Amino acid sequence: MSNPTYNFCAGPAALPKPVMDKAQQELLDWQGLGISVMEISHRSEEYKALAEKAEADLRQLLAIGDEHAVLFLHGGASHQFSTIPMSLLHGDREAEYLSNGMWSGKAAVEASRYGKVNEINIVQMDEQGNRFLTDPASWQRSDKPAYTHYTPNETIEGIRLGGKLDSNGPVIADMSSCILSEVIGINDYDFIYAGAQKNIGPAGMTIVIVKRSLFEQMNFERLPKVFNYQEQAKQGSMINTPPTYAWYLASLVFDWLVEQGGVAEMEKRAIEKSQMLYDFIDQDDFYRNPIAVKDRSRMNIPFILKDDALNATFLEQAKQAKLVGLKGHRSVGGMRASLYNSMPIEGVYALTDFMAEFKRRHG
Ligand code: PMP
Repeated sequence: MSNPTYNFCAGPAALPKPVMDKAQQELLDWQGLGISVMEISHRSEEYKALAEKAEADLRQLLAIGDEHAVLFLHGGASHQFSTIPMSLLHGDREAEYLSNGMWSGKAAVEASRYGKVNEINIVQMDEQGNRFLTDPASWQRSDKPAYTHYTPNETIEGIRLGGKLDSNGPVIADMSSCILSEVIGINDYDFIYAGAQKNIGPAGMTIVIVKRSLFEQMNFERLPKVFNYQEQAKQGSMINTPPTYAWYLASLVFDWLVEQGGVAEMEKRAIEKSQMLYDFIDQDDFYRNPIAVKDRSRMNIPFILKDDALNATFLEQAKQAKLVGLKGHRSVGGMRASLYNSMPIEGVYALTDFMAEFKRRHG
């Protein structure tokens, strides 16, 4: 058998191989119906059963109780960081936005179109040129924010803000690039959203987990009905046709996660995989990750080469070695290896072996 291709793309990202195999197997004939799951009504008994099981599995994986509604919505994370201020930022209330990278910054800009925003930059650079998260005691917090929005994992820069976030208002987290990769206390969050295309399934769907009590603070009057979270919760995310195939693939991913041992197991693997790559990068100065050790992401690991001129050669030779999707985001350049749940540890071995050989030849 030839070597597999390992895909390190930040998103849309690789899906677990057994999930893709199963999807392929049943593509043309789902549950013996003789047609594809793509081709059946979202209101059919069969599809409803799938949708409910996917929700139940996600609830089990993240220990979500009934105080939170779970929604499977169209579109990307950007839709959510636009709809949130439209729903929650009204009157002269102020919303608090912690900014630790590109996505949290974009969310703050979007919110400022609808109301007052206190954007708090929580990243600085040390003398070595490494970015780090500043001490929370130094943040200029809002007294009574309409809500606090933050991004526990910044996908582009590779910065992680872990643990429980204190706030005097509802806590909203963009978990697009870290959901299901670590155990969280669901009650620490009033609203979680995550674009599917990293740890959940294909692009085109976003998961929302929202405390039902937050609906009371939302103003839906001037919003299209499809953006009304309470109504979506009432109608099982089926006000209109949901992204049925994405939802189906997510259900296969949840099955796979349960089989693998759930989120605690994913967290263990994420720590092991990322540590292995960081340890390799830190050996000398041929490769460099520009984030302070304490704040490094477990999901997205950007790195630069000592000599920028070698980037194109690195990427080309990596591709020949069947290691793809390693180009860094256009805004930061260099390289980035994303190690989502679907990345087996063998992929990290293959990457570090390749990086060692590249260093030997060009160092
Ligand atoms: N937030 C984060 C943390 C992301 O990584 C991304 C996409 N990479 C987004 C938001 C935007 O997602 P979408 O393209 O689905 O709108």
